[in-house]
Amino acid sequence: MKCKYCSRRGEVTIPYARLTLCKEHFIEFIQRKVLRTIKRYNLIKPGDKILVAVSGGKDSITLLQLLSEIRKTINYDLYVLHIDLGIGEYSKSSRTLVESYTKQLGLPIIILELKKILGYTISEIAKKLKRPPCSICGIIKRYLFNATAIELKATALATGHNLDDIATFILKEFFAQNLTGIWKLQPYNESYKDIVAARIKPLYETYEEEIRKYAEFMKLPYMQEKCPYYKPTTLDNVLKQKIKEVEEGFPGITIGLIRRFIKNIDKYPRPKTSFLKCRICGLASSGEKCSYCKLTEKLLGEPMGYKTREYIKSLIKELK
Ligand SMILES: [Zn+2]
Ligand SMILES: [Zn+2]
Repeated sequence: MKCKYCSRRGEVTIPYARLTLCKEHFIEFIQRKVLRTIKRYNLIKPGDKILVAVSGGKDSITLLQLLSEIRKTINYDLYVLHIDLGIGEYSKSSRTLVESYTKQLGLPIIILELKKILGYTISEIAKKLKRPPCSICGIIKRYLFNATAIELKATALATGHNLDDIATFILKEFFAQNLTGIWKLQPYNESYKDIVAARIKPLYETYEEEIRKYAEFMKLPYMQEKCPYYKPTTLDNVLKQKIKEVEEGFPGITIGLIRRFIKNIDKYPRPKTSFLKCRICGLASSGEKCSYCKLTEKLLGEPMGYKTREYIKSLIKELK
């Protein structure tokens, strides 16, 4: 089959759009789609300062490339944040890859090395606290993302969540009937005073499979292997696999879910928008101390939120 827009051979078929495209037109299709998402939900405006979290996986590397490209259309500043979790060779390769790709794009990068901040890697913390590494990693990453965006005074923190991720989270919250939890799954989440940074998800309407193809066609460097702690049997990963199967039988059903979800968002109960301030670090918290300060206190006998913020501040100063 030929490409819909030129005489070249079609290389990708997009079932939900009934489109067959050549490599070049597919690349254009994705770039336009992401720009459209950004404009539709007003995710980035000229003059913004965007901090993009990049792990080195295909989604975040693709997001980084696209955000760098889109700066030709919308004029904004772009900063890269990478967290070195210290998970053996996996973290070493991820860090090297993100560092060199960021350099190639000529962008400033902030690297937070957990071992330097807390004296321990994720694996060591998990062992010491006898808790699953993924839950600890989640708490720490969330905190460092937010703290860095706040210290940088970024307009928003961009993450590489794709359409399949969002659909998975929506279903997960729906199964748990956590209907207020669904609110945070929008493409844009507002900031709250100076304790919660705004978050944006520019790949919100892009299927994981589309990102994979795009990264392949663009020859983007990304980590092929998954985190050694990845388990295909978690609820998230099982749900995501099932969603992909349903999509195969009913092309377009996942993007349809997301569109209807956004349209209906006001029908879901609003979560409370006021946050408490952590007594130690001054960032958002649900109680007296935030979960990062609680976790680090358990680990080191001292809550580390304040010191971590100071450390991030010093790294930002060095950025020039
Ligand atoms: Zn073409
Ligand atoms: Zn705190």
